[in-house]
Order: sequence, then C-alpha cells, then structure tokens
Amino acid sequence: MGKIPEYTIEKIKDANDIVDVVSAYLPLKKKGANYWARCPFHEEKTASFSVSPSKQIYHCFGCGSGGNVLNFVMEYEKLSFGEALKMLAERVNIPLEFEQVSPGEQSDTGKLRDMHLRAIEIYHETLYSPSGKAALDYLHARGISDDTIKAFRLGYAPETWDFLVSRLSGSFPGELIFKSGLAVRSKKDMRLFDRFRERVMFPVFDERGNPVGFGGRLMNADAKDAKYLNSPETPIYNKRRILYGLNVTREMIRREKKALVVEGYMDFLQLYQHGFVNVVAGSGTAFTSEHARLLRRFADEAVLCYDGDEAGQKAALRTAFSVAAYKLECRVLTLPKEEDPDSYLRKEGAEAFFRLEAEAQPLMEFLREYYRPAGMSIREKSEAISHLLEELRSFPDPVYREMFTREIAKLFRVDESTLLRQINRQSARIPAPEKNTFSGEKPKHFKTQGEAAEYFLLNLMINGKLPVRKAGLRYLSPVLFQHPFLKQVLEALLKVLNNNVSIPAGHIPDKVEDAKCKQFIIQLLMEEQNGIDEEKVFIDSLKQLELQGLRQDYDKLTRELNDAPPAEVPLILKKQMENLEARKKLDIRYNKDIFLEVET
Ligand SMILES: [Zn+2]
Repeated sequence: MGKIPEYTIEKIKDANDIVDVVSAYLPLKKKGANYWARCPFHEEKTASFSVSPSKQIYHCFGCGSGGNVLNFVMEYEKLSFGEALKMLAERVNIPLEFEQVSPGEQSDTGKLRDMHLRAIEIYHETLYSPSGKAALDYLHARGISDDTIKAFRLGYAPETWDFLVSRLSGSFPGELIFKSGLAVRSKKDMRLFDRFRERVMFPVFDERGNPVGFGGRLMNADAKDAKYLNSPETPIYNKRRILYGLNVTREMIRREKKALVVEGYMDFLQLYQHGFVNVVAGSGTAFTSEHARLLRRFADEAVLCYDGDEAGQKAALRTAFSVAAYKLECRVLTLPKEEDPDSYLRKEGAEAFFRLEAEAQPLMEFLREYYRPAGMSIREKSEAISHLLEELRSFPDPVYREMFTREIAKLFRVDESTLLRQINRQSARIPAPEKNTFSGEKPKHFKTQGEAAEYFLLNLMINGKLPVRKAGLRYLSPVLFQHPFLKQVLEALLKVLNNNVSIPAGHIPDKVEDAKCKQFIIQLLMEEQNGIDEEKVFIDSLKQLELQGLRQDYDKLTRELNDAPPAEVPLILKKQMENLEARKKLDIRYNKDIFLEVET
C-alpha cells in the first residue's frame, strides 16, 4: 500500500458519518446531544458507550475505548489502518490510490481470513474428489442438494493428519496457522497437525461474509469423538457474535422483519433448501445476548425452531428470554418430541413446517405450556418463578422488565406487587454508570477544588469557544497545574492548540501521541456542557488555581518564619503581605476582559 495523502484520509473520514457507521453495528439511542449503546468492546448491562455526532467521535465510559470513525472500524472489525480506510472508502465510493494492501502491511485479521478462504476451497474441492465420495454421499443421503453444498461451500476434511497444514504452510507461517485454530500442536514434538479430520466441513462466515471458522461433523454416528467440532475462539472468531448463515439470509430477514432461529447447521441448510430463507443458526455456542443484538439489527421478530425433546425446549426457553430482552417479538415453534427441524422437514415437507410456524406460540403462551403452573406444587412454582425473575434481570429496559414481571405474576397467579418488589430489589444491585456531566460544580471524584478546576480548564480548552481557547493559550501553563496527569494532558493540549487554535475539537485526539492522554481527551470530548457560562467557569477555575498556588506559598513562608534568623523575619513578613495583596488583585486581573484582550 502506497502512502495515502493526509487530505484523502480526512476526506474519507468526513464522508463517513460516525453515527451512520456505528449504527450499522449497534442499535444507537439518542439521549441528549449524543447517541448511546451498550459497549461492543466490553461486557455490560447498561449503555456507557456514546457517539457524538457533532464531534464525530465515540467513547466508552466503562472501558475507556474511544476515537474517530476509523478507530471504531479498526477496533470492531479488527482491521489494520489501511484495511479500515479501504473499507470506509468503499462505503462512500471514494477511490483510493492503491489496489491492495501489501502483505507486509496486512493485519493478522486479513491474513487469517485469507487462510480461511484457502481452507474453504481446499475442503470444498476435496468433497468433490474421490476421497470425498463418502462424505458427499452422506450429504446427499441427508437430503442436501449440490446447489446448497455449493452455495454454502460445504467441504470435507480427510483423515490424513496434516492434510490441510501441509497445503497451507507454503503460504502462511506456522505460528499463524496455529493461531487460526485450523491446526493443533502435538504435545510431544510441537508439530502442527489438522484440527479437523474425517469430518464434513461447514464454513462459518460473519454477517458481512468474512470467513471466521468452521464446524466439522462426524459422519459416523457411533464414533467416540464428539459429533460436532467447532473452531476455537480466534482473533477472527467470536462465537458469541456469529450467527451461521446470516451473511446469506440477512436481506431476506430484513425484508420479512422476521428470523427463524435454529440450533444446528443441518437444520439451517434443510430450512433454507425448503424455501425458508430467513433463517439463522447459532454456531458453536448457545444463543447469547450479543446474538440477539445482532439479530435485532435485521428483524423485529424471532421464531425459535428448536428440537422437540426436553433439552431443545429448555434451550428455546433460555433463547426466548435473550431475544425478548432486546425487544424482539418472540414466538416458539414446537416440534413433536422426537424431531428436530431437519428430520421433520425431510419427513413432513415444507407445507407442514409452514403450518407449524404459523402456529408458533408467543412467549407467554409457550411458558404456560412449558410450566403448566396449574399442576405445579408450591415449591416447584417458587423455583420456576425465581428462575424466571433471574432471566428478567438481564433485560436492559426497566419498563420491559416490569411488563414481563406482571405477565409472570399473572401466569403463576401470584401477587404482582411482590414480584415487582423482588425484581426491583434484584435489579438495584446492578451499579448505575457514573454520571459524567460538566456542571461547573465540584464533582465527587475530585480530591481537591484545585483538581476540579484543572479538569474544567482542560474541558474548556477542548470544548470551549475560540476566545476561551485563546485565553487558555495565553493564561494557562503547566506550572499552574498540580495533578501530574492533568498537567501532562495540558502540555499535550497546548502543543496541539499552539499549532492550530481553531482545530475542530473532534480532531484533537488524532494529534496527541500519548495513548492515555488521548483517551482522556476523548472522554472530555463526550461531556455535555450545554448552557454553561464558559467564560465564567474559565475565570473561576483559573482564579481557583492561582489562589491555591498563593495559599501554598503563604504556608511555606509561615514555615520559614518558624526557623528564620531574626534578621530575615521582616523580609518574610513583607512577602506574606504581598501574597495577601496578590490574592485580592485576582478579581481585578481575571475578569471577562481577558477574552476581549485576546480577540483583538
Ligand atoms: Zn466499553
């Protein structure tokens, strides 16, 4: 990749509105001047991830991650700078002067994806080679057509120990092959050998069609190994976030606003083949809240099609709550006890399945059927209720949580207010996010008034109007600051503003080298400060700092006075008098004129 001119980078950043880009990944909610969501970079129950449309940056108050639109794409997609830039350029049709990212600059993510693409082709070719015949016969016997096999790039991993490794090692270093999860290391001699052997291979893609891993299925049902083996978590495979098939079915799901959710690859393929093209499957893990969030971007409703046996119904119950928590309408389709979607479709056909789907029960009806509360003992009832309340605790929206709690009270015929009290008591244990509003008062987390003043001044240097920034350049100096870190931030800021005092606030972080300072500046950028009198806060804070310095000087003089030889006493007393005079003059030195002064 050649060097991209700075102005092209700026142009690409400007053309990609951060709210648009981020909302393609997360459901953003407007609150005040900013948009909020639960952070994709750390586990959390309340939204502390915020995006500022005016400053074009994001920041998480929980884990501290933050930056501009490019940083977001790099962090979320795990891409290198060049790759993220390319993706954003394509998004807005700005041509880049380079065609491809050179191998040296490609991130591990890019290399791992290339490696997976290569593996997909190798396994797929093998399926259609003589050594894959048994596997192909098996798929055909299970009713999977060649069209489906080709569309989803199914493959076959033969029994040979280093079948894939030997084919990849010409193009990829061993360390990376190991990292990909496609190979494991022998404990004896550290040699690499294939993770997947003698299995039908299901490539797994993320919702944008990037390959991330594999599921491998044994054909022989009574083999001693697990029937399914999945890729481990790798830098490109986060199982909690991947829904199998979504890359193919997302548009159909978006159109119908409805998704059928199944448990396995085979269920997925069978449904898809029978014309149910708005389907997704979990991949290598139970359905998570992240799956629900992902699905919510495409659908309003989820119909759960799980196995008819007890384990399947139990899984459906869990999934139903994950789905409902994210305000997806949820219905549960119930199959006969011994069937799964795959077997049922093959036996009864599409029409029968279609009828079952139409009859799928809303969540509360499903619960009534599942628990049959009329026949439960008191102990069973109370256990079921506390289990359900536990599930409801994860509902991010308190109103939703309350609505479901009322429904559950009705279902088990227990007193509504008791359950509400119980759930509210439970939910209250989740700590509220720390409030970060700029009010001009001393926030609780500052140790001293001086620290608060330093904080406000930094805030104004970033978010303040131009005359305030200019006054800052003139009157602020690191020696005024006492907090070592805030002092460091001020130094960095002064450097940037000395270069260009009218730089848009959102661009400041890009010019700051130190990572900690940069994070802190981004955090300050996100602070809402509507309606404050910037000039007054600036002056008050500046006076506060000066006063603090003068007081400390005075105390120092008093200590000197105790040990001073008599001849020096008059001089020290004189200095103390001057100190008191200087304090009085602060009001005269710092008034609103300092902003006029610098404007001319
Ligand atoms: Zn976070």
